[in-house]
Amino acid sequence: MLRITKYMKPFLLMLLVSVGLLFVQADADLTLPDYMSRIVNVGIQQGGVESAVPEALRKSTMDRIFLFLPDGARAEVEAHYKLVGKYTAGYETYLQKYPVLAKEPVYVLTNADKKTVKQLDPIMGKGMLIVFGIEKIESNPAQAKQLMPNMGFDLSKLPPGTDLFALLAKMSASQRAQISTAINQRFATIGGEKAIVQAAAQAVKAEYDALGMNTSKIQSSYILHTGALMLLIALISVIATISVGYLAAKIAAGLGRDLRHFLFEKVMRFSGAEFDRFSTASLITRSTNDITQIQTAMMIMVRMVFYAPIIGIGAIIHALKKSPSMWWTIALAVIVLIGMIVTVFSIAVPKFKLIQMLIDKLNLIMRENLSGMMVVRAFSRQPNEEKRFDAANVDLTKTNLFVNRVFVVVMPVMMLILNGVTILILWVGAHQVAQSTMQVGDMIAFMQYAMQVVFAFLMLAMMFILFPRADVSANRVADVLDTDITILNPPQPRTFPAPFKPAIEFEQVSFRYPDAKEDMLHDINFSIQAGQTIGIMGTTGSGKSTLINLIPRFYDVTGGAIHIDGVDIREVPLEALRDRIGYVPQRSNLFAGTVESNLRYADEHADEATLRRALEVAQATEFIFSKPEGMRTEVSQGGINFSGGQRQRLTIARALIKRSPVYIFDECFSALDYKTDAQLRRALHGYLANRTIIIVSQRVATIKASDQIIVLDEGRVICKGTHHELMETCKVYREIALSQLKQEALL
Ligand code: ATP
Ligand code: MG
Repeated sequence: MLRITKYMKPFLLMLLVSVGLLFVQADADLTLPDYMSRIVNVGIQQGGVESAVPEALRKSTMDRIFLFLPDGARAEVEAHYKLVGKYTAGYETYLQKYPVLAKEPVYVLTNADKKTVKQLDPIMGKGMLIVFGIEKIESNPAQAKQLMPNMGFDLSKLPPGTDLFALLAKMSASQRAQISTAINQRFATIGGEKAIVQAAAQAVKAEYDALGMNTSKIQSSYILHTGALMLLIALISVIATISVGYLAAKIAAGLGRDLRHFLFEKVMRFSGAEFDRFSTASLITRSTNDITQIQTAMMIMVRMVFYAPIIGIGAIIHALKKSPSMWWTIALAVIVLIGMIVTVFSIAVPKFKLIQMLIDKLNLIMRENLSGMMVVRAFSRQPNEEKRFDAANVDLTKTNLFVNRVFVVVMPVMMLILNGVTILILWVGAHQVAQSTMQVGDMIAFMQYAMQVVFAFLMLAMMFILFPRADVSANRVADVLDTDITILNPPQPRTFPAPFKPAIEFEQVSFRYPDAKEDMLHDINFSIQAGQTIGIMGTTGSGKSTLINLIPRFYDVTGGAIHIDGVDIREVPLEALRDRIGYVPQRSNLFAGTVESNLRYADEHADEATLRRALEVAQATEFIFSKPEGMRTEVSQGGINFSGGQRQRLTIARALIKRSPVYIFDECFSALDYKTDAQLRRALHGYLANRTIIIVSQRVATIKASDQIIVLDEGRVICKGTHHELMETCKVYREIALSQLKQEALL
């Protein structure tokens, strides 16, 4: 994947935005368990009372609290509460809120901001608890031991109905301090400020009841309010998730589009040398299947692989905040998970690579059979081919089954781990709740965070499945993209002289195919004057096609130079060179479409008369216009609905429409019968008067009339001259000519 990172640059901003959104999503997902714990802790257990600081309390209660507060603390409390009585402004509104006001004055909290509440929480918490506790003892002295075991004197001995507070008020300040120290010690054992606040919340609730406030409304409104907040947070999470999904799809599809675009662009610039490195089928697979793999991996990467560490680390931090003492439960789960993932993947991942290779093999057999269908049938090899395909197919199936069986284990084991951790957390947590060192809601939240950690690991595991595959594909695509194009436009291009004279000169040209051990062409020297026709002849494999492919620079010479009109062809722009050459390849190639669309490939704006004239010269009129649709006749892919000779004539007509100064015909008369061949050549001479023409042919008759004939053998020019000269001087030529002329006589 690293090799294609540079193609991700245009998506960098989108990637960053996605990561930002993932943080939003993670934040929302991590806040939800927290709110849930609040519903349980505050909403249910504390009756919706959030803190130990009551928004209002009876004067009588406050006076009782004051009995136990040191002076500093008392001053702090008095600074934040104001006493409301019958003559206070706004009495009516207060009365509605706190009906007890009709009977006695009420202290009302003047400022309920977070800072004040936090500051007053421990003071009021303890105060409320002491008063609440003593009130309980008053009504039931038997509870005294349980509530305040270290009081120094046994309250349970008092007769029921004793006014404890009157008694306490009569005591000296130091005696009261003694009691409050004893109570404080008791609080220290029940575990921290949080526990005090939670315990005090009960007292606050009782006070609200005494004030005549509707406490069940306070509770339900707290739960509804928190629930609504949770819905809002869930909504934010949903929006973030959808946006990330949208961006991920956009990034992945965009990357796929760009890679395909660059791949196609690159392949279009390939010279023969590069085409020799990659097979056509492989290039097609790379631009489709491989890019799809990358696209899928990219999508999953943005949505899950990036998200996993964010949510995983976040969940661990939040979980530890909720209950630091239970860290080891998560650690245990993570270790077991990693163990499972490593085991499963060390078995499965090597098989993934095997699967890719087996798919390749299956494709190969399928492709070979499809393209070689006729041969398979002609040799009656269907049963063998079927066996070969079956073998590959069964191999692939077996490997796939194996991998899937291994993966079947993952889900149940995962669930087992998840449930095991849940039980463990419940077990450990329940003990802590019993000891009042943890709140129920916090335990539930911890459990949810543990699950998020487990799922984060699962998402990371996805990476192990996708990455090896995507990596193979990315490398295959990068191999094409990183290929150096050997035939390029010159850095400082020259122009052909005007007017252009199509004279061609080969100067000590030698050529070696890439990766070949020996030169294919050796020391080729010849020149063609403007307007001349030359013939190239030679046995099969003597290098004729190789030689003429050098002229339009399908390959570059490896030694010497080729000049056209005195300019080295490597010094002019490729388009300028190729625009001047009409090339008819040895293998005719037509595109899917109509006859007309194929002809117009050479010149989109050619008029009807030009097309007809070209067809006439190419001797194609007869078979085209005998069809009902004429030039609108459909051409199927590769032109297979035309015969070999018809295809050749169509490709010739196509080249003729281009009207270029140089024409190269590579063996393109070979499929024509002698008569058509002769007619075509005659018509060509008229049509292409004054143009330089190179004709490659094995037939002496085709090139006999040329101004010059070059005979090639094993990549060397062995004879050069006119037909008559060669008949005199060149033994090889004479032998070929005589054998063919005899044949001609026979026909
Ligand atoms: P024919 O009359 O059959 O068309 P030819 O004279 O045109 O033959 P070329 O196609 O030029 O022959 O091939 C000459 C030699 O170069 C052959 O021996 C072939 O093996 C080799 N050759 C051709 N194309 C390549 C290639 N792309 N890579 C490596 N070697 C090649
Ligand atoms: Mg050839």
